Amino acid sequence: MPGISETDRRRGALIGLAVGDALGAAVEFESPGSFRQVTGYRGGGPHGLGPGEWTDDTSMALALSDSIAKVGWDLQDQAERYVAWWKNGVYSITGHCFDIGITTSSSLSRFLRTGDARTSGDPSERASGNGSIMRLAPVPIRYAGLFPNRLDELVKLLTESSLPTHASAQCTSSCAYMGLVLCGLIRGCERDEVLDIHWEPLLQLKKLLWLHNEVVDVAEGSFRKNQPPAIAGWGYVVKCLEAALWAFHDAKDFREAVLRAVNLGDDADTTGAVCGQLAGAFWGESGIPKEWREGLVRSDMVEEALRGLMEHDEPVPPVDPGP
Ligand code: MG
Ligand code: MG
Repeated sequence: MPGISETDRRRGALIGLAVGDALGAAVEFESPGSFRQVTGYRGGGPHGLGPGEWTDDTSMALALSDSIAKVGWDLQDQAERYVAWWKNGVYSITGHCFDIGITTSSSLSRFLRTGDARTSGDPSERASGNGSIMRLAPVPIRYAGLFPNRLDELVKLLTESSLPTHASAQCTSSCAYMGLVLCGLIRGCERDEVLDIHWEPLLQLKKLLWLHNEVVDVAEGSFRKNQPPAIAGWGYVVKCLEAALWAFHDAKDFREAVLRAVNLGDDADTTGAVCGQLAGAFWGESGIPKEWREGLVRSDMVEEALRGLMEHDEPVPPVDPGP
């Protein structure tokens, strides 16, 4: 989006995540069409939250932000911070963990047993929840400097960020594709450009990584061809990514995009968080309605995470190409 600074867009990606999460929390698990349409913050939902309060999506993003800011790129540290949230309520708005996904809790249990974050995520197809794309923004915010000239390093970080909790090909492919789109938006590319099937970084991504065929379908525009109920706010990572892109790709502003996402119901907070990252990276913090920025509860926690991430500006240190 021309005329919006990169700082505004980087901040927008994380604030947008939290805002989308908070907007969707009140209607999480509701069937589409069964609830009064969401137009702003509202209390209630399965966790009995107040208006503007947010859930696990934001908590995990704050944990990831803190890890990147404090120790750089370290999967073990990332997993330890997820455990600190799960077991001790660190990074939670209420001081205790709630709304944790089954895939996340079983992977973190495995991490506690084995101590290896790189292999703690379940690689099987059935463990393909949306828990690693919902928290992704800190990686593009910190490492957008690798775009577009060091895509191999960038893709490695994006896919690795999924491993501690979500190791299936659908999850790692979704993180790689969505992360590249976020980096493109943060760096000032136009929305139609990054979502084009001929976008050069997408073509490069397909050479760098075997992208799961369902993620390829999304990247090639399934979100343009389909409408609800084929578009659905489910917990399955590919459907979640598709729904968020459907809500984002032709919306006129941040408000319209994120409200379309959360009003799909079901895993509304997470569809909102994923769409909020995209919309925030495109329209920037300044494009997020003022009442949503000001009404976000404990926005100081989001600010602290952003401070840590933004402290580190260029240059990005070389990324170990690894095994
Ligand atoms: Mg949640
Ligand atoms: Mg959710």
